Amino acid sequence: MKQKTMALHNGLEMPRLGLGVFQVEEGQELIDAIKFAIRQGYRSIDTAAIYGNEAGVGQGIREALTESELHREDLFITSKVWNADQGFESTLQAFETSLAKLGLAYLDLYLIHWPVAGKYKESWRALEKLYAEGRVKAIGVSNFQIHHLEDLMKDAVVKPMVNQVELHPMLSQTELREFAKQHDIRIEAWSPLMQGQLLDNPLLQEISAKHGKSVAQVIIRWDLQHDIITIPKSTNAHRIAENADVEDFELTADEMARIDALNENRRIGPDPDNFNF
Ligand code: NDP
Repeated sequence: MKQKTMALHNGLEMPRLGLGVFQVEEGQELIDAIKFAIRQGYRSIDTAAIYGNEAGVGQGIREALTESELHREDLFITSKVWNADQGFESTLQAFETSLAKLGLAYLDLYLIHWPVAGKYKESWRALEKLYAEGRVKAIGVSNFQIHHLEDLMKDAVVKPMVNQVELHPMLSQTELREFAKQHDIRIEAWSPLMQGQLLDNPLLQEISAKHGKSVAQVIIRWDLQHDIITIPKSTNAHRIAENADVEDFELTADEMARIDALNENRRIGPDPDNFNF
């Protein structure tokens, strides 16, 4: 599988599909999943300080590079500053800690994990500094609503390149996607498979049967055809391979519209306007 990419507004090419590792503990299963994914052609890995697995992600990356012809520059590694670490100096410190755990010299993308009120602008200044110094190739945010983006951009020198948000057919985020498009910010979907809760959806099953692909593959295809960067999580070799095997079919405009119509603005994760962590 050759990985397709999408240019961020600074010209950096980001893979459209990556591997998520939320809720995967440190250990051999994680290391094996990273190595298997990279062997399968994945080039992008999404972790975060709060996942507590950056050391294992780094170990998997090192082993995968040793066992292949690939170089660090072939990979796209994302991490995120956790809420408790937000603020200028503490974000800079959190970045160093993440980098040390990962055992990397730089990150491809560093995100503000949640829009902590009163803090995220200071955190953003830290990300701008890291970006200016070349410690990270792109910077962005996560879980930002339109009003958070508007507020951030009032003072920002560098516009966020990515906004990673909960997004799946039950929460299609059309207004946020439109806003992001106008501002040249790429949207990345977290929990794209709604953590497995869409697998028995009758419409998705019907479309899946028609194409001879799985429901997960149909959802991932829906993301990609909407220019949404997507990071399905799996630690299972079969499903890691399955989630990346999505280039041999295309959803019709009618199928895309029918999946769009499933939207219920239904979240499985916290609401960015009402979280307390
Ligand atoms: P996903 O929507 O990716 O779903 C993952 C679940 O689906 C797992 O239980 C997995 O099980 C299962 N699964 C994966 N592939 C298939 C398949 N082909 N068929 C059937 N089941 C499948 O959920 P996540 O919440 O993990 O989201 C993805 C990533 O997004 C995270 O790992 C993380 O990197 C990021 N994220 C970011 C957040 C943020 O605030 N910025 C919040 C939440 C997530 P199995 O492993 O057994 O295959």
